[in-house]
Amino acid sequence: MSLPADDHVHSRFSWDAFAGDMEGTCRRAVDLGLPAVSFTEHVDFEAWSAPPGGWRWPEGVRGTIDGHGRFLGAPLEVEAYVAEVARCRDLFPALTIRTGIELDAGHRYPQEVADLLRTGFDRVVGSVHALADLADPGQFLEVSSAFAQRTAVDVVLAYLEQVREMVASDVRFEVLGHVDYPLRHWPAGLEVPWPELEEPLRHTLSVLAASGRALEVNTSLPLDLRIVRWWCEAGGDAVAFGSDAHSPGELGQRFREVARAVESAGFRPADDPTALWGRA
Ligand SMILES: [Zn+2]
Ligand SMILES: [Zn+2]
Repeated sequence: MSLPADDHVHSRFSWDAFAGDMEGTCRRAVDLGLPAVSFTEHVDFEAWSAPPGGWRWPEGVRGTIDGHGRFLGAPLEVEAYVAEVARCRDLFPALTIRTGIELDAGHRYPQEVADLLRTGFDRVVGSVHALADLADPGQFLEVSSAFAQRTAVDVVLAYLEQVREMVASDVRFEVLGHVDYPLRHWPAGLEVPWPELEEPLRHTLSVLAASGRALEVNTSLPLDLRIVRWWCEAGGDAVAFGSDAHSPGELGQRFREVARAVESAGFRPADDPTALWGRA
């Protein structure tokens, strides 16, 4: 089985990908035999409330902190990014290199999104990274910090509610990124209560299926296979694979075993190896 495209990759044009390197990532894609790579750089319009202990970003993270202590990731430098993609396309003609963005909560910023999308990106991944800040109404708190304000189950439920709101909106994105994002920050030693999460997850997947968008199988965690099965049962048509690499070494991580598992859950590659997977 040939490997799927990696449709969720960051380079140094993303505010948190200080180890990113587009050329190095493309070289690794060729070495791994990936048919395509989408550089879906972060685009954030929403500042996040400071976490309880204050910000502790690793050195190299780019952004601003306002007078209320809220952090906003640095904007995408679109021209420089597009120029770097063009340079890499020249260097690696056999590799399909897509432009893209990972759009955070785009449904709350329709005008900003419309302005940005005039650039014409090949792929837009829609993602949620923050929940309502219960201590500061109207503000948002990154999911990892939201566990300080809610039970672990309530973090997931609030997250899925945000996802459904975004998916039900008409903001442009083709792929829902990491529907399981809260599980990345799940408290150690606590079992994930799948029976309790099944119905809200299935509900979210059916809203996504109705929107005609694809589900991303993010391989950084990686996505639990039962969610992929529920996606198939919800009538989901397409699956994207994304490593969420923030450095060349993470590109295509776990792709071979995850692709095999996704195939067993009811999906298969399209005739075009660079395309999203469809239903078997
Ligand atoms: Zn993300
Ligand atoms: Zn990402």
